[in-house]
Amino acid sequence: GARPAADYLSGLNPEQREAVETVDGPVLVLAGAGTGKTRVLTTRIAHILATGKAWPSQILAVTFTNKAAREMKERIGVLVGGAVEGMPWLGTFHSIGVKILRRHAELVGLRSDFTILDTDDVVRLIKQLIQAEGLDDKRWPAKQFAGMIDGWKNKGLLPHDIPEGDARAFANGKGRELYAAYQARLRTLNACDFGDLLLHPIAIFRKTPDLLKEYHEKFRYILVDEYQDTNTAQYMWLRLLAQRPKNVPQNVCCVGDDDQSIYGWRGAEVDNILRFEKDFPGAKVIKLERNYRSTEHILGAAGHLIAHNEGRLGKTLFTDRVDPDDEKVIVHAAWDSEEEARAVGEEIERLQRGDGDGKKHALNDMAILVRASFQMREFEDRFVTLGLNYRVVGGPRFYERLEIRDAMAYFRLVCQPADDLAFERIINTPKRGLGDTTVRYLHDSARARDIPMLQAAAEMVETDELKPKARKALFDVVQNFRNWQERLERTEHTELAEQILEESGYTDMWKNDKSAEAPGRLDNLKELIRSMEQFDSMRGFLEHVSLVMDAEQNENLDAVSIMTLHSAKGLEFDTVFLPGWEEGLFPHQRALDEGGRSGLEEERRLAYVGITRAKHRCHIWFVSNRRIHGLWQSTMPSRFLEELPQNHVDVAASDSSNYGGYGGRGGYGQSRFDKADPFANNYSTPGWKRAQANKTDATRDNWGNRSGHAVERIGYGESGPRGRTID
Ligand code: ATP
Ligand code: MG
Repeated sequence: GARPAADYLSGLNPEQREAVETVDGPVLVLAGAGTGKTRVLTTRIAHILATGKAWPSQILAVTFTNKAAREMKERIGVLVGGAVEGMPWLGTFHSIGVKILRRHAELVGLRSDFTILDTDDVVRLIKQLIQAEGLDDKRWPAKQFAGMIDGWKNKGLLPHDIPEGDARAFANGKGRELYAAYQARLRTLNACDFGDLLLHPIAIFRKTPDLLKEYHEKFRYILVDEYQDTNTAQYMWLRLLAQRPKNVPQNVCCVGDDDQSIYGWRGAEVDNILRFEKDFPGAKVIKLERNYRSTEHILGAAGHLIAHNEGRLGKTLFTDRVDPDDEKVIVHAAWDSEEEARAVGEEIERLQRGDGDGKKHALNDMAILVRASFQMREFEDRFVTLGLNYRVVGGPRFYERLEIRDAMAYFRLVCQPADDLAFERIINTPKRGLGDTTVRYLHDSARARDIPMLQAAAEMVETDELKPKARKALFDVVQNFRNWQERLERTEHTELAEQILEESGYTDMWKNDKSAEAPGRLDNLKELIRSMEQFDSMRGFLEHVSLVMDAEQNENLDAVSIMTLHSAKGLEFDTVFLPGWEEGLFPHQRALDEGGRSGLEEERRLAYVGITRAKHRCHIWFVSNRRIHGLWQSTMPSRFLEELPQNHVDVAASDSSNYGGYGGRGGYGQSRFDKADPFANNYSTPGWKRAQANKTDATRDNWGNRSGHAVERIGYGESGPRGRTID
C-alpha cells in the first residue's frame, strides 16, 4: 500500500530511494562522485531506525575517517529528529576493530587493556628485534620491514601465511621468522599495531564460531562507505560479519566508486567491488548517475580526465545544474610555490571580499588540496602573513610533537605497566643518570625472564646490582610509578596527569631549557592536559589519541581548509584550489617510477577526486620551479592538464606580465600549458635566483593592481609559438 513518504525520504531520486528502502539482503551502490552515496547510507540508517527494524546498537556502519563518522551521526540525528542515542558501532574499521578486540583480547593472548602502538613505536620495536637477531640494521632497515609487515597485515597474512618469496625478500630469508618474533613480542608487551586491530578479530571469529554467531545476531544491518578503498583484511573481516547463516538475510550495503580508489598503495583492493557480487549472490546493484554536487564544467573536466584510465567499470554522470554564469575550471601558472601561495591567497581574499560575483564567500567553503604534505608549509606561511584563518586537516599533528609523545609515554606506562616502549622512552627523560648501559642491562634482564622492564626495574633496586647513584635514581622512578598507579583510580585524571609531569621532573626539564622552543613546548603540555578534560579517564584519552588521525584545529572558526587529496575524500567545498600540478609532483614521481599503468592511473583517480570535491569553483595551479627536498628544480606542467577538455577549462591570463605565455611553445611537444618561465630555455644560467629577484617586483605590481579576473580562452590543438603577454 502507498503510505506517505517519511520526511527523510522526500527529495531522494528513485534510485537513491531504492537503495535506501531495500534494507533486506545485500546491496551494492556503485556510483560516481557526488551522486549521494554517503547521503544514501545516512538516510538508510535513519530509515532502519525510523521503521523500528533495529536499535542503534544493532547497526554496524563503517566510515573512512572518524570525522566522517561524527558527521554521519549528526546527520542521522537531524533526519530522524532528535539526537540518536548511541550508534556505538558507527566508526572506522580501526575504531570498531579495537572495540571488538577489547572485549575478547584474551582469546588472542592479550589483556583487555592492551596498548595500540603507533608507527614510531613499531619501528623502534622492530629495530630491537633485528639487532637481537645479530643483523645489521643499516643493511636491513627497521622502517622497511615495518612497511612489509604492514603490507602483509593489509592482505590478512599471518607469519605462516606469507608466501615463500615474500619471506625471503628480507634479511636473507629471515622475514617470516622476524615477523613471528614481532608478533610474539607484541603479545609480551600486551600491545598490538594497527593491522592487528583487524587481524585479531578475524582470528577470534574464525576460532570461536559461537562468538561469531553472537555478532551475526547483534549486527542486523551492516553499511560501508568508500567501499572501493577497503583492503583484503578489511574485506575478510566484513565478510565474516556479513555472511550470516543461509536462512537470515545478509543485510549488508556497500557504497563506492571505482574511480575514487586512491589507497592502492596502502593495500586497498578495488577488486573487492567485483568480489561483492560473487560473495553475496543475489546482491542488488544500484547505480546512481545524477550528480548533485558540481557544476557541469567541473563534472565535464573531471569526467574527461578520468576517461583516460583504462581499468574502469564505467559509469555515467550528469547534472541538471547548468548555468551559463558557471565558471569553468581555471588553470593558473606561477613561477614557484611561493608565488603560487601568494596567488591562491589573493584569490581567496578576493572571494572573501566578494569581488567578481558580488557574493561574499566564507572561508569554510574553500579548501586547498595538495598532493604531498610538504606543499602545505608555503600556504601556512602565507596565510599567517595575511592573517587568513586556516586549518590543516589531518596534518602535522599535535600529538606527534616530541614533548607530547614524552608526556604520553608517562601516561601510557602508568595505565599499562607492561609498555616497555614507553618505559624506554622516558626512563632517562629528563636525565637521571640512567645511561644506555643501565637501560640495556634492564632490557636484557627483562627479556631473559620475559617480564616488563618496569617490573625488572622494581626488582633490581632491591638488589645491589647497580651502582648506588643509578640505583637511587631508578628507585625513585619505580616509586613514582607505584604512586601514580595507586592514584590512577582515585585522582581526577587531568590532575594526575599534571602531577605526573611535575613529579617526574618533566615539566622542570623544559622550564630549565633555554632553547627558543621550550616555552612553546610548555604551552603544548598545558594544552595536552586541557585536551584530556573531555575524557572520562586517562585510558579513554590514550585510546582516543591512538585512534585520532585527523587533528581538527579551530573547528568553529571560519577558516580555509588545507589538506592532502587523500584526506579530502568524501568531502565537498564550494571552491577548491588544486596546487602543484606538475610532473613529478602530480603525478607523483613514485607512481611514475613504478612504470606500469596502475600507479599512474591511481594518480589520475586522485586528480578526479580533487576536482570533484568542488561544487562551484575549481582552480588548478602549476609552477615552473619547485624546491623538492631542498633542491630547486625546473618543472613541467602535469600531463593531467593536457587531459582536461577545452570546453570546460579556461587558462588564466598570465598573472605576471614578464612571464611570457602558456602557448604551445616548442620543447614540450603539444603542450597547451607551457612553463611560466622566461628563462626556461637557458636554465643552466643562475636561473631561479635572477628570476626570483625579477619576480618579486613583477608580482608586487601585478597582484597589487589586479582587478577582476582576467581569463583567456585558448585554442585547442594549436602548436607553435603563441607566447603572449596579457594585462
Ligand atoms: P563522493 O563520491 O564524493 O563521496 P557521494 O556520492 O557520497 O560523493 P554525497 O556526498 O552523498 O555524494 O552527496 C553529494 C552532495 O549532493 C551532498 O551535498 C548531498 O547533500 C547532495 N545530494 C545528494 N542527493 C541529493 C538529492 N536527492 N537531492 C539534493 N541533494 C542531494
Ligand atoms: Mg561519499
